[in-house]
Parts: sequence; structure tokens; C-alpha cells
Amino acid sequence: GVIWYDGELVPWRDATTHVLTHTLHYGMGVFEGERAYAADGGTAIFRLADHTDRLFRSAHIMGMPMPYDRETINEATRQAVRENGLESAYIRPMAFYGSEGMGLRATNLQVHVIIAAWGWGAYLGEEGMERGIRVRTSSHSRHHVNSSMCKAKANGNYINSMLALQEAVSCGYDEALLLDTEGFVAEGSGENLFVVRNGVLYTPELTAALEGITRETIVHLAEEAGIPVREKRMTRDEVYVADEAFFTGTAAEVTPVRELDGRTIGAGRRGPITEQLQTMYFELVHGRREP
Ligand code: PLP
Repeated sequence: GVIWYDGELVPWRDATTHVLTHTLHYGMGVFEGERAYAADGGTAIFRLADHTDRLFRSAHIMGMPMPYDRETINEATRQAVRENGLESAYIRPMAFYGSEGMGLRATNLQVHVIIAAWGWGAYLGEEGMERGIRVRTSSHSRHHVNSSMCKAKANGNYINSMLALQEAVSCGYDEALLLDTEGFVAEGSGENLFVVRNGVLYTPELTAALEGITRETIVHLAEEAGIPVREKRMTRDEVYVADEAFFTGTAAEVTPVRELDGRTIGAGRRGPITEQLQTMYFELVHGRREP
């Protein structure tokens, strides 16, 4: 396969970078996660322009000058999927600082951009998609004040996500739920959370969670289905007593959550509203539903 690398298509094994790559040392870089799906008219990247916009917003937040314009990145993304002959794909654009200088004060750094695409199935497993996953509240919190600036999908923001996921997996769970620094529910390690109670769909406010594109899509689909949606500051016990819960994300798509911290959520399986929204989501991404 090939990877789009600073304007050129480079064979997969040659798409390398130096060990003194600045981003490798200090973690300041920005990225996206996108999916392309097989649809009637051919393969289509779901909400490409919105992902590219978020990549540019993340770079703007980090003060990182993007060396290409949005249209170039959009076209490069399509090219990365097409040139690899992928019918469906996960796509990873990333902008990072090069190896022109070391130290936090380096001012001569070049911004490089790569876009890679590969085939990737259900991120949290096919079984999880149907039966729901088991989640553990993490001891690592999602910082919104000091470190991360959560509107950015930035490399450095994923330290806590990885620590949280490691902790959950080592305790036998599938995924982690991160709280914010005040103890309110924030999000999963790479997913936004929704819960259903008495027919109403709730999701945490965006004070300590990424502005998920799937989250926004689900809000629209719920409105279309006549399901009331509310943004809410949520405590973990509200998840324990919910009728249904699910995670959303480009990677995780719509994954039901059947347990949190050993407490069964609702009937302990994918709930009816979750299933309805999951079905609508897959119809939409495969171009079988009007956006
Ligand atoms: N929250 C975090 C921390 C993420 O990394 C992601 C993944 O992109 C999401 C939420 C879900 O966002 P989206 O639906 O745009 O993929």
C-alpha cells in the first residue's frame, strides 16, 4: 500500500520519520480518525469535510501552521483510500513537527502531514456491537482545564486515554470511562457516551469531551426518530441506573455498553433505542439514508 506523505504517495514501508522527530519527543501533533464505507455509488468517506475542519481547528488550537489548505487535504484523503484499493477503510491523517530542531524552544520546525488508510473492522469487536461491552470508570481523569484543551484531537491528549484504557483492560474490562476533574462523566478513551432513561437520550456536555462527529450525527438521527435529546452534566450513578448506554466514535461507531463498574445497565444487553440508532447510523454511513 501507499501513504500520502507531504504531497507524495510513498510506499508503506518507506513512510518513515527520524528518531529526533519533535512530536515523538514532546507529543505536540494533531490527528483525525475517519472511516470510508462502501456505498452504492462507490466508496465514500463519511463526513470528510467535517473531519478535515476539525483537523484544522485542532492545529489552530495547538498553534501549529498547516502547510496545506483544506481542499488539498480532502483530495489527498480520497486519494489515500483510492490508491490503496480499499472498499472500506479507517483513515488516519496526522500533522506533526519534524526533526529540524530539539527542545521546546525550537522555532525552525517544519509541519509534516501524513494520511494513511487501511481496512479495520469493528473497533470494540463484532460481539460488542451486538451484545454490548463492559466498561470501567477510570482513575485517570479527562482534564479540561490544565493539560488538554479537549476541543483538539491532539496527540498529547491521549496519554490519559491510554492510561485509562490500559487500566480497564488489565482489570478485565473492554473500555474505560473517564470522568472530568470534578468527577462528572466525560467520555470513553476514544468515544463519546450516551445514556437512555425513560425514553430520553442524554449525553455529557462538551466541557471535557471531544466534539465527536459521530456524537453530532447521533443527535441528529435521534431528533429525526423523535427521541428527545439533552446535554447534561452527568454523574456515574446516572449511568448505573440508565435503561441503556452506548459509546459513539468513528472507530467504535455505535457500541452498546451493558455494564459499568460491575453494575448491569438496564437489561444488560443492547437496548431498543441503541439498536434503532445503530441501524440508522449504518444506513447513513452506507448512503442508504438521506443525510
Ligand atoms: N472522544 C475522543 C477522546 C476521541 O478520540 C474520539 C475519536 O475520534 C471521540 C471522542 C469520538 O469522536 P468522533 O465521533 O468524531 O470520531
